[in-house]
Amino acid sequence: MPTIQQLSPSVVNKIAAGEVIERPASVVKELLENSVDAGATRIDVTLEKGGSELIRIADDGCGIAADQLLLAVASHATSKIQTADDLFSVATLGFRGEALASIAEVSRLILRSRTAEAENGAELEVIGGAARPVAPAGCPIGTTLEIRNLFYNTPVRHKFLRTAQTEAGHSIEAVTRLALAHPQIHFTLAHNGRLLYDLPPESGLRGRVAAFFGRDLADDLIEIRSDSDGVSVSGFVANPMHNRSHARMQYLFLNGRAIRDRSLQHALGEAYRGLILTGRQPICFLRLDMPAALVDVNVHPTKQEVRFQDSGRLYSQLLGTLRTKFLTTDLSARGAAPRAAASYSENEADAAVDGRSQLVEWAKQQLGQQPNAQLGSAANSTGTSASEPLQLHRFEAPAFRPFDIGRNAAQGDVLATRFDRPHNPNRGDQDRFADEGSTPPQALQVHNRYLVVETNAGIEVIDQHALHERILYEQLRNRILAGTIESQRLLVPEPVDLSAAEAAAVLEQAELLARLGVEVQPFGGDTILVSSYPAMLANMSPAEVLRELVEKLVTGSRSPEARDMFDELLHMIACKAAVKFGDRLTQEEIDSLLAQRHLAQDTHHCPHGRPTALVFTREELDRQFQRI
Ligand code: ADP
Ligand code: MG
Repeated sequence: MPTIQQLSPSVVNKIAAGEVIERPASVVKELLENSVDAGATRIDVTLEKGGSELIRIADDGCGIAADQLLLAVASHATSKIQTADDLFSVATLGFRGEALASIAEVSRLILRSRTAEAENGAELEVIGGAARPVAPAGCPIGTTLEIRNLFYNTPVRHKFLRTAQTEAGHSIEAVTRLALAHPQIHFTLAHNGRLLYDLPPESGLRGRVAAFFGRDLADDLIEIRSDSDGVSVSGFVANPMHNRSHARMQYLFLNGRAIRDRSLQHALGEAYRGLILTGRQPICFLRLDMPAALVDVNVHPTKQEVRFQDSGRLYSQLLGTLRTKFLTTDLSARGAAPRAAASYSENEADAAVDGRSQLVEWAKQQLGQQPNAQLGSAANSTGTSASEPLQLHRFEAPAFRPFDIGRNAAQGDVLATRFDRPHNPNRGDQDRFADEGSTPPQALQVHNRYLVVETNAGIEVIDQHALHERILYEQLRNRILAGTIESQRLLVPEPVDLSAAEAAAVLEQAELLARLGVEVQPFGGDTILVSSYPAMLANMSPAEVLRELVEKLVTGSRSPEARDMFDELLHMIACKAAVKFGDRLTQEEIDSLLAQRHLAQDTHHCPHGRPTALVFTREELDRQFQRI
């Protein structure tokens, strides 16, 4: 018979730690929240080795009295709430009383603090959950927490830590969120003895955005403000010309707390519909302020997700505010020509701007015709829109001809010509075509996305993007293995502003990037100079190429193995360089694409594993038509 036992406090704390302390950044987040709750006006963050060796957070907040130090690290002990009713009016970032106890259980923690009333400070050391006696200590008013050797006694967690750079990146993100949410607080952040940020108090968000993400973005922010029944939405969204492939730059702050909310992200996406291309994500820095009673923050251990009493109304308020704002803002005016990248011809740059302003015009007309008509129905808490989906592909910017045969052929890069002629046209997949010979059969392009081909067996429907991507991926991999990747040297190297974590990651991986044809060097601060990049990405600017790669380098990669990362980057390049789903192809391009099928080892799957072609056999067709 199994016997039931009460778990020891130590085990309970370890379980709690498992929930809230996933990595050094979780500690940084919890400690920063405590400092904010303590009314700090300045918070200094120091990390060593990505935080796994040391996290020190010093604040000038209210401090903790010496006789309360032990309680501060006890589980379920908090100064922030007293009764269950208080849970419905939480005005602080913390309230669970678990963070310090959890952290102390899995590290060596030193807590040093002094209140304004006390003449001296006091210090408490806890090692793996075992507290030493409280001792007097000389220290300024406020609290300093030092966390060393995180996870030293939980080897499994320790094993899952990534490189110091990656872990530092997560901590920087935690600081970024808090610093954006509380611009009035002075923050500093140092890693391995290097001061990454020194952010003096600001009256608003814009300065903080500039500090973290560069002037370019900060200058193109659009201010938002709306108040409705005690609920206010304020802050900034970015001009649509600034967008990302991920939603990580959608910052939402609810009563000073960074949250994620799918429904609100959806509202944001809806507001930008037609203003940015499909698959891209808008950027925002938005504050939601409302009475604490209108939201339940006690639904998630790290409180990153919350439950709104009326999420439908909030959805409508956000979407309506953004739509109205976009209608009255000239979004195209700031959309300057894409930087003078060596790869752009004047005409292409103009076409891009034209395309963008057409798109903006079109979107405005659409909005104009149906002012707030759909707001009510569009709003629902599941995050799906009830409004009729707009036909996005109709107004996307005209597609570039990425590998314009004439132009790039002149650069002598075989890959750069959109589709190469096969070296041996009678090999491989060719044999499967009904029309055997030195040229592939005529194929029909349908809906600008599929190629329909007659084969001996029946008919084949090919996904043009997936096939081209696969071919490019394999060619690229072979060329990189052979060390013959074509890169394009820029006449004038292009400076790219990154975040500190991104810049560090780029420099750390400079060698890997060089093998991909991207040459980078430091340019002071968090700016990186790109001096060359792959010729096959000539349809992107050097800055775009670097940003795409950075996303993979910093947190995108699910696998820390260098080889896998490399593979991911190859996928990305192949995907960017391939003809798009929706691109109209000339007959020559279609022929050329089909002729190259045999060059790829696996033409049946794109690098993401989707099929590139579907086969409908003659028998199947005959059967369907009841001929057999
Ligand atoms: P919670 O924040 O949920 O109350 P914590 O475990 O994070 O729980 O902190 C426990 C208590 O320790 C807090 O309620 C607060 O009273 C005190 N405390 C923690 N950090 C600080 C700090 N930096 N300054 C002042 N008091 C603090
Ligand atoms: Mg706390």
